[in-house]
Amino acid sequence: MAQNHPVVSHCMAITLILMSTLVCQSKLLNDPLYRELLSLPIASDLHIDPESIAEASVDFGLIVRKIPAVVLRPSHPEDIAVLVAFANSKSSIPFTISARGCGHSVRGQAMARDGVVVDMTSLGNKTAVSWSQSLGHYADVGGQQLWINVLEETLKHGVTPVSWTDYLYLTVGGTLSNAGISGETFRYGPQISNVYEMDVITGTGHFFTCSPHKNPELFYSVLGGLGQFGIITRARIALGQAPKRAIWVRMLYSDFSAFTTDQERLISLHGRDQDEALDYVEGQLFMRRNSDSWISFFSLSDRPRLMSLLTEHELLYCIEVAKFYDERTRSTVDKDLKTILKDLSHVPEFLFQKDVGYVDFLNRVRAEELTLRELGLWNVPHPWLNLFVPKSRIADFNTGVFKNIVLRKNITTGPVLIYPMNNDKWDDRMSAVIPDEDVFYTVGFLLSSGFKDWQEFDLQNKEVLLFCEDNGIKVKQYLPNYSTEREWMQHFGPKWRAFQESKAQFDPKMLLSPGQRIFNQN
Ligand code: FAD
Repeated sequence: MAQNHPVVSHCMAITLILMSTLVCQSKLLNDPLYRELLSLPIASDLHIDPESIAEASVDFGLIVRKIPAVVLRPSHPEDIAVLVAFANSKSSIPFTISARGCGHSVRGQAMARDGVVVDMTSLGNKTAVSWSQSLGHYADVGGQQLWINVLEETLKHGVTPVSWTDYLYLTVGGTLSNAGISGETFRYGPQISNVYEMDVITGTGHFFTCSPHKNPELFYSVLGGLGQFGIITRARIALGQAPKRAIWVRMLYSDFSAFTTDQERLISLHGRDQDEALDYVEGQLFMRRNSDSWISFFSLSDRPRLMSLLTEHELLYCIEVAKFYDERTRSTVDKDLKTILKDLSHVPEFLFQKDVGYVDFLNRVRAEELTLRELGLWNVPHPWLNLFVPKSRIADFNTGVFKNIVLRKNITTGPVLIYPMNNDKWDDRMSAVIPDEDVFYTVGFLLSSGFKDWQEFDLQNKEVLLFCEDNGIKVKQYLPNYSTEREWMQHFGPKWRAFQESKAQFDPKMLLSPGQRIFNQN
């Protein structure tokens, strides 16, 4: 991995922020905004100590740094409403407000320079599982909650959310502000397609309950709305019966066309109750350069033949699938899986299979996180690029990007994900933006770099985007990172006008989530 003593550099970065915020602290105590906020009933939840400020100034990307004036750790959702209402009408000093889940964004999206960052996690855990005739099982969860906690709580009732992200230490409000995608999306839609109702505090400081039937404009705007219209304090999430275990399979391809043909066939089986459907379909690009990110799945005895296949082809494509099972389907799962996979064109003998617990499967990235933390490779810059690529151009993307940029440059460290999704599992009324084709691919360059060379990775990202632009490949960024209005207009396309109108309606003073840089340039 290209690293420049990352741990030392990360500690140095935090120390520098701490030092500079320490110097600033006496200034902060006299900061007119802080002094004004002290007059509110939330005074005891306001924090300006160096640690709180330093933490809210960085995110998982470790690329952007914006120092807020104050951090609010609310005790109740009402505390947030008090703050927002004050910013909206009574404050003599204009300031912005950003909800912060875990700060797992990579480009400052949860930051608020000179404003107030709301540390949502202080609201604690709240999950209530219920059942109704019309919805079946559902969970009411706090917007601040980690998906891992939602999983643990729902499993106590034998039920589980159906749509996931690869990593579970993300907050409900954070992923619903984007979309929340993973290998289950082809079948159940993104997480935003699995929400029945939300409580939201809008940019005017008002509480609203919204759903497809109640305040639908707010409901659809907020889902995938990049935090622009309100702060989600509760979401009602769809649940299904919880399986017990997963058969987890990886199959290797040297031929891209065979790889995508098979992936597309697998996601075409997507009925909710189909025994012949998979539960999870993803894929990855395997190169020698990023082998640290994928090798651990394979047994020591399989690795030599895998590496020699890789030497022969330089690039390999891996389809990753899972089929869940419980006591009822234990005896049939192997047969069902065999039927589903029987005509696939992976390299013969390069199918690898594991049988793991359901939670271990869903929480698989946690194990990688703990290893990377131990090696000092977790708190390093993450110049990620996530794209949605229309199916009709994925072969051009393979040639132009994977072969002619990524392989040629040979700097890519970290996983590169490639998997298709079905457009009809997304709801066009929501703010999230996807390509206009029945099937599109997500391509995630989940890069990790050193502190001194992340710009090199960013240059590669720019080259990828330029290649797409020059060749008319109409990609959409997921977890988008733009800075000009023109770019945002282009990103939202026909949805831009509605997005602007919703902003004017729900956050007219443009207070919320300024770090997205859509309506704020700070
Ligand atoms: P933050 O980064 O804190 O916030 C993100 C945005 O949402 C900000 O603009 C913030 O102001 C806003 N926001 C936060 N909370 C609320 C709220 N309650 N109400 C309204 N707005 C709010 N994403 C996927 O879709 N699929 C994946 O598989 C996936 N894997 C990941 C793996 C890792 C290791 C990491 C670091 C990220 C991954 N992500 C994935 C991206 C993740 O969805 C985003 O980082 C997302 O922002 C959630 O992170 P967070 O909860 O920390 O939110």
